[in-house]
Parts: sequence; structure tokens; C-alpha cells
Amino acid sequence: MFGSWNCLSLIEQCRQALGGHGYSSYAGLAALYQDFAVQCSWEGDNTIMMMQTGRYLIHCYREAKNGIRQPTSVGYLNDVEMTKKRISPAQTAQDIVKLDDLLKAYDCICAHLVSDVGEQHVALTAHRTEADEAFELCGIALSSPFAPPHPL
Ligand SMILES: Cc1cc2nc3c(=O)[nH]c(=O)nc-3n(C[C@H](O)[C@H](O)[C@H](O)COP(=O)(O)OP(=O)(O)OC[C@H]3O[C@@H](n4cnc5c(N)ncnc54)[C@H](O)[C@@H]3O)c2cc1C
Repeated sequence: MFGSWNCLSLIEQCRQALGGHGYSSYAGLAALYQDFAVQCSWEGDNTIMMMQTGRYLIHCYREAKNGIRQPTSVGYLNDVEMTKKRISPAQTAQDIVKLDDLLKAYDCICAHLVSDVGEQHVALTAHRTEADEAFELCGIALSSPFAPPHPL
């Protein structure tokens, strides 16, 4: 999902960077875009797979919140509040590319994103909404993590 969406966006950026020439068949970018775009739909539509992944993450978040230990791939949810407060030890440009620190930074980003949407799901189900309907209502946030939360 991440790879195919970003690749498609990069092809479009290249086309725009060439201005009017980007449209020319000599540049090859219009045909490349058309050929590549299908990667975001076949073998599973990206938006749907993103929502399925989000649904799984909310499920893991809610389990972790109830004290059920989560597997390594979502291990950042086990101590989510502590992970959210993590501050990067990087002091120099070289420090930023250290793999261990990068992974910790991604943990911190994911902890914020998943707990925000997870809490939205918790609030919806606490108020009036069935779990499945709440997943649908959280759908926008799941398929686009930077979308504003659904109003309660
Ligand atoms: C070139 C090509 C070859 C293919 N080959 C095969 C093949 O060999 N075998 C095979 O089985 N299939 C094949 N497919 C089918 C492919 O798997 C489907 O097209 C793909 O999974 C998307 O499903 P759909 O077309 O039903 O779109 P839909 O699921 O109808 O999606 C249409 C749009 O609605 C959105 N949407 C749908 N549901 C929701 C929701 N709940 N919430 C928010 N948005 C939603 C989607 O994000 C998408 O933007 C092929 C498709 C193409 C284009």
C-alpha cells in the first residue's frame, strides 16, 4: 500500500516537474502512470487494505488497553503511553540515520496514530455505537491517518 501509493505519487510529481513536456509521450510518464495506477487497486484495493489494517490495529490497541500482551509487530502498543512520550536521543545528522533510533521513532509515531484512532473507537462504542459501525465511522481516520476525528 505504502509503496504503490508513493510510487504513483512520485510518477505524478515527475510529470509535473517536467511542466508541459511531462504530458508528451516522449517523456513516457503519462503511460507509466496509467500502467502503474492499477497496482493500487488489483490484488486488493489499497483503501480497503488500509482500513483492514486499521481495524486490526484498533483491535490490538483495545486488547493492549485491557492488559493483553501484543506481539512484536505491534509491541509499541504494550506500553503505549510511555512510547508516546519517547524523545529522540539524536543530537547530530548522523544520529538520525541510526536504524535502532529510526525504529523507535516509528514506534512513537505509530503509538500516537493508533491510540488516537483507538480512543475514537473506544469513545464511539462507549456512547452509542456498535463496534462494526464504529469501525466504519473511524474509517476515514484509518485510511488517512491525518484526517480529523469523527465528531461524537
Ligand atoms: C487489470 C485487473 C486485473 C484483475 N485481475 C483479477 C484476477 O485475475 N482475479 C480476480 O479475482 N480479480 C481480478 N481483478 C479484480 C480486482 O481484484 C478488484 O478490481 C479489486 O480488488 C478492487 O475491487 P472492486 O473492483 O470490486 O472495487 P470496489 O471494492 O468496488 O472499490 C471501488 C472503490 O470504492 C472504495 N470502497 C469500496 N468499499 C469501501 C468501503 N467500505 N469504504 C470506503 N471505500 C470503499 C474503494 O477504495 C475504491 O476506491 C483485476 C482487476 C484489474 C483492474
